Amino acid sequence: MKFSEYKTSQDIRSRFVYVVQSTYLTPTQKAVLAWYSDQFVLPLPDHHRFPMEKYRLLRECVAVDERIQLLIPEPATNKDLTRVHTVQYLSKVTSGKLSKDEVRRIGFPWSQELVERSRRSTGGTIQAAEQARRDGFSANLAGGTHHAFADSGEGFCVFNDVAVAARSLQARGLVHHCAILDLDVHQGNGTAAIFSGDKSVFTLSVHGESNYPFRKEASDLDIGLADGTEDDHFLASVHFGVEKALSRGADLAFFIAGADPFEGDRLGRLAVTKQALRERDRIVFDACERSGTPLAVVMAGGYAKDIQDTVEIHASTVLEAASRTSSSAPSSF
Ligand SMILES: [Zn+2]
Repeated sequence: MKFSEYKTSQDIRSRFVYVVQSTYLTPTQKAVLAWYSDQFVLPLPDHHRFPMEKYRLLRECVAVDERIQLLIPEPATNKDLTRVHTVQYLSKVTSGKLSKDEVRRIGFPWSQELVERSRRSTGGTIQAAEQARRDGFSANLAGGTHHAFADSGEGFCVFNDVAVAARSLQARGLVHHCAILDLDVHQGNGTAAIFSGDKSVFTLSVHGESNYPFRKEASDLDIGLADGTEDDHFLASVHFGVEKALSRGADLAFFIAGADPFEGDRLGRLAVTKQALRERDRIVFDACERSGTPLAVVMAGGYAKDIQDTVEIHASTVLEAASRTSSSAPSSF
């Protein structure tokens, strides 16, 4: 049976129970901590194209793995958020004073729940980043809202969680140099703009060149892929980009692990298989282990025709993190 034929979260859980028991689980392994915020439900109109359901399905899917400890994040505070976002923008978001055009660009109707969810999702990335410094790896089962700029949101992104987390840890003296490994199919335009000219944060984006956003910003390293790009070229690009980004000597990395380079994605335009996405993940984790760089993983986009494909791709990334986090974490962490 192909995985895409599993239709319910129960089926997915069964599949992963099998994978966990047969492949990964050893009783001595320490849990990787992962934050989830799917219980902060954002009301969306019927037939809205954002697959909000994927977050709950993902949590249920990874919850069966004993090595993964799930936690509810604290919300990002105004102090956290204004390290990146302007006071005016934050005020408009929190008080519901965004213009119609600003709301349209974000793509979600405004609600108090949207604000709460955005704060929690950003908080999850801050806490995952803090934890990664202790354990080597950690994850947020949401986040990766890389289209948010300092003074505006767009493309389903309200706050730029990774930028806020990087600034939060820097401000507290916990890290100095960060690397952002953005392997979602869409360019991390907000992140690139926020850290433009900032030598303390290296921004890598491997994305579809002709895909959204149609006006690109300049990351430190942009690798634009043609529509229809297949596994080999995709993986070679990822390998090159990740090695380059980490060669600058970061003391914390973020992996924006979008599921949307997948060939079955409605918005992706690439022809990358699930197997290659698992290899993508291994390339990132291997490079971080080799260089002793703690890694916080966030999920970002995923719009597969069958939502179970998106969930499987995200879950594989989280399980890869779990398989690397043991009681004998590398001494270099
Ligand atoms: Zn995306």
